[in-house]
Amino acid sequence: MSDEMMKMPKFSDIKYARPSIEEFRECAMSTRLKLMTARDPEVVETAIMAFQREMSAFDTAYTICMIRHDLDTADTFFNDEMDFFDENYPVVSDLSAGVYSALLHSEIRPQLEERFGTMIFRKTQNQRDIVSSEVLDELAEESTLESEYSQILSEADIFFKGKHHTISTMTPFLESTDRDMRIKAHKAVSDYYASQKPKFDEIYDKMVKIRTEIAKKLGYENFVQLGYKRMERYDYNEEMVQAFRDNIVKYIVPITSEIRRLQKNRLGVEKLMYYDLPCLFVHGNPKPMIPQEEYFATASKMFGQMFDKDPSFFQVLGEHDFMDLFSRQNKATGGYCASLLDYGIPFILMNANSTSDDIATMVHESGHAYAALRSIDSSQFIECLSPTLEACEIHSTAMEYLSYPYMDMFFGAHAPAYREQHMTLALLFLPYGCLVDEYQHVVYKNPDMTPAERHAAWRELEKKYQPDIDYGDDAFYEEGGAWMKKEHIFTSPFYYIDYCLAQICALQIWDISQKNRKKAMTIYDHLCTEGGTKTLIELVEDAGLESPFSLNVIKKLAYQVCDYLNL
Ligand code: ZN
Repeated sequence: MSDEMMKMPKFSDIKYARPSIEEFRECAMSTRLKLMTARDPEVVETAIMAFQREMSAFDTAYTICMIRHDLDTADTFFNDEMDFFDENYPVVSDLSAGVYSALLHSEIRPQLEERFGTMIFRKTQNQRDIVSSEVLDELAEESTLESEYSQILSEADIFFKGKHHTISTMTPFLESTDRDMRIKAHKAVSDYYASQKPKFDEIYDKMVKIRTEIAKKLGYENFVQLGYKRMERYDYNEEMVQAFRDNIVKYIVPITSEIRRLQKNRLGVEKLMYYDLPCLFVHGNPKPMIPQEEYFATASKMFGQMFDKDPSFFQVLGEHDFMDLFSRQNKATGGYCASLLDYGIPFILMNANSTSDDIATMVHESGHAYAALRSIDSSQFIECLSPTLEACEIHSTAMEYLSYPYMDMFFGAHAPAYREQHMTLALLFLPYGCLVDEYQHVVYKNPDMTPAERHAAWRELEKKYQPDIDYGDDAFYEEGGAWMKKEHIFTSPFYYIDYCLAQICALQIWDISQKNRKKAMTIYDHLCTEGGTKTLIELVEDAGLESPFSLNVIKKLAYQVCDYLNL
């Protein structure tokens, strides 16, 4: 553990202050001027580093604000502060685009590329392709719609079995071994979404239209191309992604049908219905043997053993309040890890609810946190500390696989069932992730579709990727409403395939770890330490893995996984 981390502040002691847009603007303007006139790389470096500090401060303030808002969505102060960032983030992006544009056009660019590496230049060019001052109003509108959607979701109040629930705290009932309970719980969730359907349809329709408008103003044919640029896809394109999805349909979908057939037999039901799907085992999905209060101590110990370090990074983060693990009312749903750049410290937010998912999520977010800590010194540019999102998801997903041998600490005798469940869910996820991805391609290539047409398109695609799903008489799902449950579709367009690409890379690390644990740990650490200094395929191949787009990798892994699961 480094000295800095031992001296680190507590999250609760960190002061939040709204950053000054005027100061930011001044710094951006003067940096831009220096970059345009400087002939000395030294001068450029000094100027750009000063601007980097300003950006880091702005980003840190935003992250603190977002976390405090997410920890208590009813807090009006941070709600207002989030509005400030919604409004001003595009302004700041535009100002930094101006600075980087000067860097891009510098007369001494070759010397600068030698000094800084090419990644920052590639990122800068990409940034220029996705923002311009002409679309600032539309970007602010898009951002407001996203906040509106998230706000509705965080206020979701599902009354079930005499109690108020969030979407997240409904999960144990959705997975229940009692079929009647499952049916009622699924009905309650479906009723909630059905009640919100007009609102969600309206928000999404506006989102599709505004995103399309932004894309057109920036000179793209539709939002698909802009979406790819926003996701920073430097070394793969739409055709490669389509070929990837086709491979999933070819090699993974048949395995998922077999999994569902076995599940149906195990549960002893005549027909496997959609409400049966989350219950994989007749005695229920393995639950942690330890109470939530012990998660932290146990995970601290596990990471200590895994990385041979005491105290573990996880323990140090937790002891300084850089995590909030448990679900409660008025806390944002989901889970994430966000870095406070000025401090070089990641924060983990999640919503534990006593299901097996708790542990996988905790390990997943810890993978992001570990990578954030390992890559602190990988680049002098904050933009290059963290890689593009698919590569980030390798850090987290591979950590889930690398934690397999330690799962006895959480699940005791049920650890094998946990591993079986985890691997099964990973397989089931791949077609679902591709479904979410293809759906968005359809939506953004046909921006004038009506909400009803979008629902119909989803239902058609479901039949290709999830042929075994049976919604019975649930009208909301049967009419194609299930996509509304996926936050990413609203707030992070085209993000979802990243999880699938990452899964294929992480599964390769799992496969290696089965034969050579040390080698797998070395590959993992190498990937994390590289941060965002390279593109996805470069990072993966440098670490000694195959590109997820390579012809045989999915087929090969499908074989290994079937063997592991005795399918
Ligand atoms: Zn993640």
